[in-house]
Amino acid sequence: MYYKNYGNTGLKVSAIGMGCMRYDEDDVRAGRLGHCAEVPLYAYSKGINYFDTAPFYSEDKSEEITGLALGQLPRNSFLVSSKANIGTTGKTVTADAFRRRLEKTLTRLKVDYLDFYHLWCLMSLEDYKKQHDALYDFFVQAQKDGLIRNIVFSSHMPGDELELVIARNQYRGMLIGYNALNYRFRQSGIEAAAAKGMGVVVMNPLGGGVIPQNPDYFRYLTAGTDLTVAQAALRFVASHQEISITLNGLTTREQVDEACAAVEGLVEKPVRQIVADMEGQGVAMNNLCTGCGYCDECPVGIEIPKYMDAYNQQLFGGSILERLKWHWSLPAEGAAICTACGKCERLCTQHLPIIARLAEIAAIKD
Ligand code: SF4
Ligand code: SF4
Repeated sequence: MYYKNYGNTGLKVSAIGMGCMRYDEDDVRAGRLGHCAEVPLYAYSKGINYFDTAPFYSEDKSEEITGLALGQLPRNSFLVSSKANIGTTGKTVTADAFRRRLEKTLTRLKVDYLDFYHLWCLMSLEDYKKQHDALYDFFVQAQKDGLIRNIVFSSHMPGDELELVIARNQYRGMLIGYNALNYRFRQSGIEAAAAKGMGVVVMNPLGGGVIPQNPDYFRYLTAGTDLTVAQAALRFVASHQEISITLNGLTTREQVDEACAAVEGLVEKPVRQIVADMEGQGVAMNNLCTGCGYCDECPVGIEIPKYMDAYNQQLFGGSILERLKWHWSLPAEGAAICTACGKCERLCTQHLPIIARLAEIAAIKD
């Protein structure tokens, strides 16, 4: 395993971290939690020392499953992270509610403290302000009480907004979505965090599956390697000097092996150089839908992720209409009922021009 520094904390972290949100669904539903726990144990045996979980993952069993594994390991040999926000503390955001949630997490994970506790899922500066103002003091108190080592945040904000949060010097690290689809979109935030000595952890390195599902389009990532497209996408992220950990949602031992192999002999480069290299090859993709589903709250019922997936196909050189018809069984005219209320664009993690794309789709003639 290749190890990196988590910012200037002095912590050495595995370049691949285990995202604990993809435990085998059948096992989870059947209650075979011990079987699921064999995957983090295997990951640990392969040198992975960072485990990222949260309430609600894997039908709210992720923390418990992860704890079944971590409870068997020496506490100083791994790092574990979980998350909290207003949504996890319940309707009344109080110090007691926050502490009860944190204690539940600690109990499930079978640990006395968390290495990292995230203020979870900041979607915008407005959201940051609301969540931060409501909860940050509770995080600080929990840290003083020895229940948290590092206060960090996770976010879907673009680079310039991340910079504003980073400038306030309140967090030791951040967790962001970053991959070969959106690398320019968050570049300035990554650079700002690294300059402050913060750790940078990346989720969604495979672009919500879009990268491995379109191997021909993304083959360029594998140039000069024997890696699969999915492995190359992991390596692309892990090779950033400023990025400490690339999280990979792992379900099987085979996936653990593939992820570990992806970072063997890693060569690190600054993000600036990576971006220049990509753009030198004529590759500049900030414009693809990752299928994350965050926008899927349309008041008039448009199935936005499906329409945006169809739009992706056009960017890959295919046909919007074919994708809508044969894959999603949706009519292009369905996009015409958009009222341009803007809700979906405010929620989109890729900040895509959804309204304009829907108008384009609606205007396509058969
Ligand atoms: S802008 Fe259009 S697609 Fe987006 S939420 Fe509003 S009505 Fe739905
Ligand atoms: S349009 Fe944006 S928010 Fe919606 S699924 Fe795609 S990337 Fe996610």
